[in-house]
Amino acid sequence: MSEEKQLATEEHLESRILEFLKPRMGARFKTWMKICAHCGLCSDTCHFYLSNGKEPKMIPSYKIRFLKDILRKKGKVDKAYLQEVYKTIYHECNMCRRCSLYCPFGIDIAMMISLLRGLLTSVGMVPEGLAKAVANYQESGNQMAITKEDWIETLEWCEEETAEELAGLKIPIDKQGAKIMYTVNAREPKFYPQDIMEMAKIFHVAGEDWTFPSEKGWDATNLAMFVNDAQTARSIAENTFKRAEELGVKQIAITE
Ligand code: SF4
Ligand code: SF4
Repeated sequence: MSEEKQLATEEHLESRILEFLKPRMGARFKTWMKICAHCGLCSDTCHFYLSNGKEPKMIPSYKIRFLKDILRKKGKVDKAYLQEVYKTIYHECNMCRRCSLYCPFGIDIAMMISLLRGLLTSVGMVPEGLAKAVANYQESGNQMAITKEDWIETLEWCEEETAEELAGLKIPIDKQGAKIMYTVNAREPKFYPQDIMEMAKIFHVAGEDWTFPSEKGWDATNLAMFVNDAQTARSIAENTFKRAEELGVKQIAITE
C-alpha cells in the first residue's frame, strides 16, 4: 500500500480526513446531502434493510449520516468513531446502487458510501483481504500476485490438456491483431484453470480469433474500486487498455 494508506495515528486523523475530502466535496455531494427529503422510499430497495427485519438503521439514507457528521465536525473524529463508520459501510452496504436507482431525487447513496470507503482507505482502515489484493495489483498487476512466468505456464498446460480433447486447439498468447483480447478473473489461473480450458473450447469451436495478453492487463477484476483507491483502480483499467492497444485488437472481452 502507498504511504497515504498506512494506518493514521489519532493526531493525524483530522488532517488526513480533510486532505481526502477537500478535493472531492464538490457540488454534487453537497447537493445530495441537502436535498434528501428523508422520505424513506429507498428503504425497501435495500436487501440489508429487508433481511434485518426492516431495521431503521439499515435505511440507505441513514447510512450516509456519517458523511454529514464528519463534515460538520470538520474532520475532528477519533478511531472509535471511524470504526462505527467502517461497520456500516463495509458490513451494511455492498454498494449495489439499488437505492440510488429508486430515489426520486437521484441521490446516489452508493457513491457516498464509496466516498466514505475512500476516506477510510486514506487513513489506512481497509478490510485485510482487500488491502492484500490492492497490494498485489500494485506489485504484479493482478489480485493474486501471479507472475508472468506462472501465467504463461498455466496457459500452456491448459492448452496442452485441452488439445487432448479437441485436436488443434490453441490458447493464443500476444497474438497481434486478433479480434478479441480475452481477460479473466485472476482466481481462474490460481484456483479454477478449468474455466480457462472451457472458454478455450468455446473459442475454438466458434472459430474465434482471440488472444490472451502475456503482460499485466489480463486480470479483469478491479477490487481497488471497492475501497475507492482511485489511483490503483485507474492503473488496473489502464493496463488492460494498454495491452489492447499494443496488440491492436478490436474488442476486449471481460467476463467478470
Ligand atoms: S435518499 Fe432519496 S429516497 Fe432515500 S430518503 Fe433521501 S430522498 Fe428519499
Ligand atoms: S447501495 Fe447499499 S444502501 Fe443502497 S440498496 Fe445497495 S446495499 Fe442498500
